[in-house]
Amino acid sequence: MEITILGSGTSIPQKDRSAPSYLVRSEERAIMVDLGPGAIWNLVRNSPAGLADVGTVLLTHLHLDHVADLAPFLFAMKAEEIGRTSPLTVIGPEGFSDYYASLRKLYGRWVEGAGYELDIKEWPGELIEWGEFRIDAGRSVHSLPNLAYLLRESGAGSGVMFTGDGEPTMEMLQLGKGTTDILIAECSLPPGVTEEGHMNPQQAGRLAEQIHAATLVMSHLNPDCKAEEILKEATAHFGGKILVAEDGMKLSI
Ligand SMILES: [Zn+2]
Ligand SMILES: [Zn+2]
Repeated sequence: MEITILGSGTSIPQKDRSAPSYLVRSEERAIMVDLGPGAIWNLVRNSPAGLADVGTVLLTHLHLDHVADLAPFLFAMKAEEIGRTSPLTVIGPEGFSDYYASLRKLYGRWVEGAGYELDIKEWPGELIEWGEFRIDAGRSVHSLPNLAYLLRESGAGSGVMFTGDGEPTMEMLQLGKGTTDILIAECSLPPGVTEEGHMNPQQAGRLAEQIHAATLVMSHLNPDCKAEEILKEATAHFGGKILVAEDGMKLSI
């Protein structure tokens, strides 16, 4: 599978970092993880996959830097030029059904599926198989319910884990341990700074070490997270490969 970082930033607009969003592609399928503002434009700019190729969207949580492009995504599906006919599943954490119901109240048919099947649901609490993808999730500690997602291809023991926002829980450690090749972790705090519900490079490094990831990618970076400093700090806590996320970066498993 190939992973493209569409947005490595946060809610704070930065010149070179868009809001959180990632694309995961196998030979035949495409999944987006989070839809921060601008995500659907970044997808079109950074990948040969079009919006109509995305069959599953996984939302980690309902903060606007992670979900703002959901309504524009669904609105775009209405365009004849896109001509979507294939089903679309959008999965979110607890509260997502209410969130979508509110969008429908505001926008009605403009955010409903027509000409294609639209399945909107909250995480069912158990592994989902979609084609060759196996998708699992675990909760983190954040100011809103947040799911970390683990994506693997059938037959592969390990895959990629996206933490979304938040500090790790036992549930996340169990989910990721021995199953995570690439860990894409939130690292919105600079070295030495702690805040409940967010991670700094020390915590991201420790999580990568605890779950025996091969590669740690620090993402969801605020302007005060300087690449050299966070890299140095994470290196003290994790012995594997460490990358600082950049918009447009591609990784493969
Ligand atoms: Zn958040
Ligand atoms: Zn966030």
